[in-house]
Amino acid sequence: MTRPAPRPSVLAIDPYVPGKSAAPGAGRVFKLSANETPLGPSPRAIEALRDMAPEIALYPEGSSRALREAIGARHGLDPARIIAGAGSDNILELLALAYVGPGDEGVYSQYGFLEYKIVILAAGGTPIVAPETHYTANVDALLACVNEKTKIVFLANPNNPTGTYLPARDVARLAASLPAHVLLVLDAAYAEYVRREDYEAGVALVNAHENVVMTRTFSKIYGLAALRVGWGYGPAHVIDALNRIRSPFNVSSAGSVAAIAALADEAHLAAAVGHNERWLPWLTREIAALGLTVLPSAANFVAIRFPEAKGLTAADADRFLTARGLVLRAVAAYGMPDFLRLTVGSQEANEKVVAALAEFMQGAGARESARASLHG
Ligand SMILES: *Cc1c(COP(=O)(O)O)cnc(C)c1O
Repeated sequence: MTRPAPRPSVLAIDPYVPGKSAAPGAGRVFKLSANETPLGPSPRAIEALRDMAPEIALYPEGSSRALREAIGARHGLDPARIIAGAGSDNILELLALAYVGPGDEGVYSQYGFLEYKIVILAAGGTPIVAPETHYTANVDALLACVNEKTKIVFLANPNNPTGTYLPARDVARLAASLPAHVLLVLDAAYAEYVRREDYEAGVALVNAHENVVMTRTFSKIYGLAALRVGWGYGPAHVIDALNRIRSPFNVSSAGSVAAIAALADEAHLAAAVGHNERWLPWLTREIAALGLTVLPSAANFVAIRFPEAKGLTAADADRFLTARGLVLRAVAAYGMPDFLRLTVGSQEANEKVVAALAEFMQGAGARESARASLHG
């Protein structure tokens, strides 16, 4: 061997490719590719961040105690059973590292969040993919993948990039049917957005089982994606394991103070929920009326299916929209090459997307491509 070699499973990872955020030459850009909130963070979070700036020479308090207490108070949870992390991605990674090793298997669903595959492989494990039904996780299919080698099952609920969700009774059946040695991770990154009576983010199941963990984030509805703050709630023995392997200062003081301030701003949260309640159904309806298929979403984004027809494909639409400063998320890496994912944006962005899609569907995209190939 002529140079150090990473473990084989490391080289089996396709690095996570974030959605693009630029549209060269398009003028004003609307980034609708990362499920960020169009309302931005709470002004209180910005103020808290400014106030703490002189203190950044000091290490953060290592256990994120103040943040865990604020989360506990807000959600009625025991702070000792909460772990904070650098985004919920950090918690997902710690879970895989702590519970999965070479020879072990980790299960997730067909169109599930791609981070699961990455963290299972990074831990040295083998990713196992359960088929979905109508772009929705299927409890029986997930259970059919479980055997004595299975250590972890990841379920995003609602799921990214599909936006579909499983009702509480289905998730409860999954939790109750898993063997006791398998950890179920309920990734509820979009929980605050869900307006469904049969939805439960995971607290009740964590409380009822020794093998269920819930993860949450401040990156989405709270608008703090750049600060990287997420958390997990689980049985004491799981939180203990994660605390042993996390890096000692895994949440910055900036992230903590901003998240605590954001949690306290209930009006801002309500505004974000209200905005989504208005525009998610509007986008779903208007885009479907153009003849496109829109998956039913419980989150703050929709997956839009484009026809196979030349000039009308998702790739054509992506080019067409990007040229107009409307940046959506291509999801071919998820095995959904005929879809684009659209985040609910500001009123202006939403109206522009629908108008541009209408133009595209009337053949403008095809005409533009034909012209480009004639001249190119
Ligand atoms: C965005 C997202 C996350 C994580 O985001 P962080 O910024 O790392 O907290 C986790 N799960 C799903 C399904 C997501 O869409």
